[in-house]
Amino acid sequence: MFKIGQKVICIKSHSKNLVTKGNTYTITNSYNLNCGCRVVSVGILSNGLYAKCTTHNTRTLKNTNEYSFLASLFAPIEEKGSTYIEAYIDITKQKIEKININ
Ligand SMILES: [Zn+2]
Repeated sequence: MFKIGQKVICIKSHSKNLVTKGNTYTITNSYNLNCGCRVVSVGILSNGLYAKCTTHNTRTLKNTNEYSFLASLFAPIEEKGSTYIEAYIDITKQKIEKININ
C-alpha cells in the first residue's frame, strides 16, 4: 500500500504518542507481521527486536532498527490534501478575473 519514500499523514495517534495525529512522516519501510497486519516505519529509531501486534497478540522479528506502526495509522498525503484542486481553482479564478478586467 505505502511505498518507501512516500509522504503520509498520521490519522490516528500511537498509544504512546510515538507518532501523533496530524503530523506528516515519510515511509522508510513497509512489511507484514506474522499475523498478516501491515506495518510501516517512518524513521523513528528503536532498539527493540520485535514488532508487536496488540490486536492479534503476536510478535514478529523486525527487519529494521526503527519502530513499526500499523499502516492504518497513516493516510497518503496525496489523497487527503486538496493542493492540486486548490491550485486548479486558483488558475480558474485568475482567468475569470482577467476576463472581468478586459
Ligand atoms: Zn495483527
